[in-house]
Amino acid sequence: MSNSSDDELILIEDDQQTETPARKEKYWRILIVDDDKDVHEATEFALSGMEIQGRSLRLFHVYSGREAIDFLDRETDIAVILLDVVMESDDAGLKTVDAIRNELMLLNTRIILRTGQPGQAPEAETITRYDINDYKTKSELTQSRLFTTLTSAVRCYDQLERLDASRRGLEKIVASSHQFMAEQGLQSFAEGVITQLASLIGVAPEGLVCAATDKNIGPGGYRVIAAAGNYRHLIQHRLSEIDNQHLARSLGHALRNRHSTITKQDVTLYFRKTPDEGFAAFIETADPISEVDQNLLEIFCTNIALCANNIDLVGDLRRDSQIDRQVDLPNRNALIAELDRRLATAAADDVLALIDIDQFAAANDLLGHQYGDAMLKAAALRLRTLFPANVFVARVAGDTFAVTGASLLVKADTIQRIFAQPFAIESVDHLVTVGIGLTPVASNGRGADTLENAYIALRRAKAAGSSQTVSFSKSIGEETRGRTQLLRDLREALERKQIHAVYQPQIDLCSGKIIGIEALMRWQHHDGQTIPPDRFIPVAEQSGLIVPLGQWIMHEALFALQRFRAAGFPDLRMAVNISTVQLRQPGFVDFIDTALRETGTSPHNLELEITESVVLEGIEPMVALLTELRSRGICIAIDDFGTGYSSLNYLEQLPIDHLKIDRSFVVSLASSERGARIVRTISKLGQELNMKTVAEGVEDQNIGDLLQEIGCHSAQGYHYARPMDEAAFLAWLKEHLCS
Ligand code: C2E
Ligand code: CA
Ligand code: CA
Repeated sequence: MSNSSDDELILIEDDQQTETPARKEKYWRILIVDDDKDVHEATEFALSGMEIQGRSLRLFHVYSGREAIDFLDRETDIAVILLDVVMESDDAGLKTVDAIRNELMLLNTRIILRTGQPGQAPEAETITRYDINDYKTKSELTQSRLFTTLTSAVRCYDQLERLDASRRGLEKIVASSHQFMAEQGLQSFAEGVITQLASLIGVAPEGLVCAATDKNIGPGGYRVIAAAGNYRHLIQHRLSEIDNQHLARSLGHALRNRHSTITKQDVTLYFRKTPDEGFAAFIETADPISEVDQNLLEIFCTNIALCANNIDLVGDLRRDSQIDRQVDLPNRNALIAELDRRLATAAADDVLALIDIDQFAAANDLLGHQYGDAMLKAAALRLRTLFPANVFVARVAGDTFAVTGASLLVKADTIQRIFAQPFAIESVDHLVTVGIGLTPVASNGRGADTLENAYIALRRAKAAGSSQTVSFSKSIGEETRGRTQLLRDLREALERKQIHAVYQPQIDLCSGKIIGIEALMRWQHHDGQTIPPDRFIPVAEQSGLIVPLGQWIMHEALFALQRFRAAGFPDLRMAVNISTVQLRQPGFVDFIDTALRETGTSPHNLELEITESVVLEGIEPMVALLTELRSRGICIAIDDFGTGYSSLNYLEQLPIDHLKIDRSFVVSLASSERGARIVRTISKLGQELNMKTVAEGVEDQNIGDLLQEIGCHSAQGYHYARPMDEAAFLAWLKEHLCS
């Protein structure tokens, strides 16, 4: 071995420690089995003073096969047996061989058979079966022959033993490597190294110390990361603080020079993780380490160094799962862990703020992803640098950041001020606004719950417009969870067909004839309650569930219309409410065409009730869509007219047939001058724009009369009929026609 390479195992060759480490046993142990005393004496004489591989021989004498077995059962490390074939019986020698190999399982011990006559030689087959080294007649075994035969047998034994030892060692190394791969930190890893080393070289895990570079101490600073036995108290101590000079010097030497050292009393191993990083282990050994063990230690060091690298990799992976590399901030996982930590330590006034950049998606589309990425990085950097270190800043998703810390530090106006200055991106100033959702951290059990509350508040803030802040409160939470539950129930109701349609007639004010029907949705909740559409339609719209719901009622209503036709009412028109969410669905026209075809309905018998909000998203696409529908003969009505986003300007552009005057105006028609004025205005407007007006919510004859006077075309309301299920409606139709 040389000390040329950094991390090779080297032997110290100073004055005290010059002796080459050798086996515990300084002799080769040879057993002579013969019933002839003279043979023992002759052999002893022939072998006296003989050395093999630098070690002398120690002879043991027994005089029968039985004695030999007893002896071998007691003793260990017998290298060679010189065995007489014929003793107490003709085959006593062979029986002994059989017992040695098959009962005592001594497979490495070499056997040399000796016999008086050539005729007593065993079969070749026996020689191979029992792994007999040699067979010689006693007369053949002259001193020099005996020497050569014995030397090769001893060598053979030695090799077999080494192989065994290193196989056992390798097995341990392989097993320990598996274990190390699963280790999670350098300290437990080092503890594992100590245990494995101890078992590898067969010492108790005493006097074992692992040390590694500690960058916190400064250059050349080392710290004990694991220790066992007598040295347990040294854990976490700096090497420079250790009293035991020899220990400190050995470890320091190994770490500085990056190599291992073996002396008679101890081993200091260096484990190299990277070319310039590693750790060292010191072990006291009662006996000098054998050559086999030295070789094993070398393998162990390399192998463990590989494992140590792995530990770092695992650490990196774990760190990766907590870091958002794009903006170099902790991610959502890390935030939840941090919230859990804060909840556990009960800092009572901690708050969590979620910050979301207003219109980020639109700006990203408009200005490109490069802008978006740079914007996010700049926002992350600003948040991180402007909040003190005890405030935790993370990025939880897309353009949503989280800030958690003491309520005095994490405040809405502080955050708004942070974003008040423009961001210079590619040397152009960009001003952004943010929505903020705030929640106390201590109000809930788990970090994930706190985050959810903050999200609820943030969504409200975003819905309220730009630059808004909403603080989470118990009532907000309950309301939101109530809506979530409602949505869950609604989805189930749709699947279980717990939703049905009711029908309300529309009456021509001049003739009193039925001209149309409005289909309305009803939900019979499983607890028996009826949930009004005003409550569940908005939830359905927000979640998109309105799309399947709307498809369902369209088919339901048009099939009902066919049944009304069949019952003798051929000219009715069915009005179906259409949510803006449905209108925005691609393929809406196809859906209508299919519904008409599948139900066998003429487009002239269908009316779609839409609301003023359809123009919020831009008027051109809506004009195109409605024009397309109208070209088929389908009627379009504006529902709740006067309550929403009213602009006379767009009304002119939209292809509309009917204006439905909202019930609130109709109700006030009789009681207030203002109400009457509005209804009159809408009616006139309709006339001007060539649209018919329909009054909703007519509850008495008086209102009906007033509406007729004003010039309203038709009316709908409890005065004529309440919404009814199909059977009731049909009965009503028949009665109404007859009266
Ligand atoms: P809307 O489209 O304005 O429907 C008229 C509402 O006025 C219905 O309430 C109807 O029952 C009620 N109504 C009719 N006459 C009178 C009256 O004389 N007095 C009073 N006080 N109320 C009267 P409903 O069925 O509770 O529906 C409420 C809203 O839910 C509807 O307002 C509509 O916006 C929505 N909606 C109902 N069904 C559907 C549907 O199938 N699809 C969609 N998108 N929305 C629906
Ligand atoms: Ca309606
Ligand atoms: Ca309405």
